Amino acid sequence: MKKPKGIKYDGGKAPLNLLSNYAMEEVAKVLQYGATKYHPWNWAEGIHYSRVISAARRHIAEWENRKTYDIGEDCNGCKKKQLCKTHSKRHHLANAICNLMFLLDYELRELNHLDDRRPEHTLKNTKRKK
Ligand SMILES: [Zn+2]
Repeated sequence: MKKPKGIKYDGGKAPLNLLSNYAMEEVAKVLQYGATKYHPWNWAEGIHYSRVISAARRHIAEWENRKTYDIGEDCNGCKKKQLCKTHSKRHHLANAICNLMFLLDYELRELNHLDDRRPEHTLKNTKRKK
């Protein structure tokens, strides 16, 4: 490949080109569902960690149980263009990634008031007896 003449000082910057476009598109579709269900930046306004952790775990568990898409029994009765209020109908892992992205965003923005994880002092002396 011929070396381009242009200069770009991007050393040390995050290589965003390495992200999977396929995965990002699926995640964006989940965000689109959320934007319709709530409003586009609802998640960014903040949700308690516990709620987001629970949602991520539910989606991972569903996928682990070999269910690919977030579709409920009731969804089959939905009209095609009707929005299901409980199911995104998108990939469970894309839903889980959304939730993990929210948590990472909250932590990076230091939205500590949302952090309702188990208090640190309750984690002491938790060695299990064999
Ligand atoms: Zn549904």
